[in-house]
Amino acid sequence: MADPVIVFGSINMDLVARVPRLPTPGETLLGQNFSTVPGGKGANQAVAIARLGIPTIMIGRVGGDQFGEELLNELKAAKIQTKDVLVDTSVSSGVALIAVDDRSENQIIVIAGVNGNVNEIDVARLIPHLSSATALLLQLEIPIATVKLAAQAAKKADVTVILDPAPAAEIPADLYPLIDIITPNSVEAEQLVGFPIDSPSLTSEAASILQKRGVKTVIIKLGAKGGFCATPEEAFFFPAFEVEAIDTVAAGDAFNGGLAAALAEGYSIREAVTWGAATGALSTTRLGAQSSLPDREQVMKMVRRDEG
Ligand code: ADP
Repeated sequence: MADPVIVFGSINMDLVARVPRLPTPGETLLGQNFSTVPGGKGANQAVAIARLGIPTIMIGRVGGDQFGEELLNELKAAKIQTKDVLVDTSVSSGVALIAVDDRSENQIIVIAGVNGNVNEIDVARLIPHLSSATALLLQLEIPIATVKLAAQAAKKADVTVILDPAPAAEIPADLYPLIDIITPNSVEAEQLVGFPIDSPSLTSEAASILQKRGVKTVIIKLGAKGGFCATPEEAFFFPAFEVEAIDTVAAGDAFNGGLAAALAEGYSIREAVTWGAATGALSTTRLGAQSSLPDREQVMKMVRRDEG
């Protein structure tokens, strides 16, 4: 069995209201439907990896409220180790209040809640796991100072650091050299380099810039166009798998899950981006975030289709 992968990041509950149209300020509107959906980029990536049969450890926080309990149960049901997920009663669980209208326009309010409290205490809980882990996955829904501490700890333990710089935010110069693999989508990559990435040459230029800042490998996720990967040895575009996409929520998280799972099993970076692309593509064929993540059999079938 592969060594464990650790995900250190956010755990959220998404509260989703379907509405005929988005409300105007001060307006009370009758909605059509309500659902609670477990999310958070950290938790989504952890579930994506666990579904692929890799031992997965989640480090982060949930609130002492009902959402916190549900979120923990959801992670446990996915066979993720949650021993070091802290129940923090000082503020609410992380939530996203989402309104989606008939045209799929949305309005989202994110409350970081306990995710905003993730700090050196959680890094201390992370450290004992690093000696047996193959990779540490990070995102930017927890404080960036904590992301840096976690990356430093992983680097010291010689564990591969995979950073998903999402949601888009500035990255401090001294964080880049701690990152083995960075995985922005095109919007996030544009934000990092400061120019639009609308041609193959600009995509490869953006990757070179990030490498010059100290990252070893850059993977730019390009949605239905696939993506671009630049390692210290090679650079290549990879195609997307052709699927009938109905909902691209969490495609990026699915990609990172597939990528990390393949690397944990010792596959090359080329094979790992294929696993990522297959996991990402399959997640777009179903509604939702964690509920849309494929299992190992589905991903393997798609990867083999590519090879055959
Ligand atoms: P994010 O969700 O972070 O914006 P992307 O939309 O780029 O990330 O999706 C991540 C990966 O998932 C892509 O690189 C691609 O491999 C796959 N993917 C996303 N959308 C589609 C799609 N419509 N068809 C096939 N594959 C897709």
